[in-house]
Amino acid sequence: MDNEKLIKPIRSHTELYDLSNSKYSDSTWKEKIWKGIGEKLNQTGAKKRRDYYILQKYDVLTMAEKKYLIHKTTDDKDDIKYVVSYEDLFKRLSDYHIRIGHGGVGKMHAILSNKYSISRPAIETFLSICTICNSKKGSNRKLVIKPIVSNNFNEIGQVDLVNF
Ligand SMILES: [Zn+2]
Repeated sequence: MDNEKLIKPIRSHTELYDLSNSKYSDSTWKEKIWKGIGEKLNQTGAKKRRDYYILQKYDVLTMAEKKYLIHKTTDDKDDIKYVVSYEDLFKRLSDYHIRIGHGGVGKMHAILSNKYSISRPAIETFLSICTICNSKKGSNRKLVIKPIVSNNFNEIGQVDLVNF
């Protein structure tokens, strides 16, 4: 309860606390005042448009005494999609990334989109900072094929297995 909201209307009605006020002993009158204050408080506590939007879009799922924010599903068949907080985003991305063996954007998006709503740019940003993925890319570029050196003709054979 917002105390400021409660204190202001009470203060303006001196009969509620001022003994010298002639209405101080009028309990019927005071009851009316209290009722009015209560109604006013309820009005200010009314849900705003944004609150309705949030209520329409999200839901709270309680599982094993833990609360999870999820996207409201339109269909019962829809899988539950968890909202990943900004603080948890990195850990969640890195867990899945390692689990799928440093998979790329496509793989990451496919596996994450079943359970979470994580945007593609977020995945891309994460991948751009993965040191293992970056070092893999780097070593591919530097790949040099070492030639087989032999002294005599037909000493060492080499078979190309493409399309074998
Ligand atoms: Zn990686």
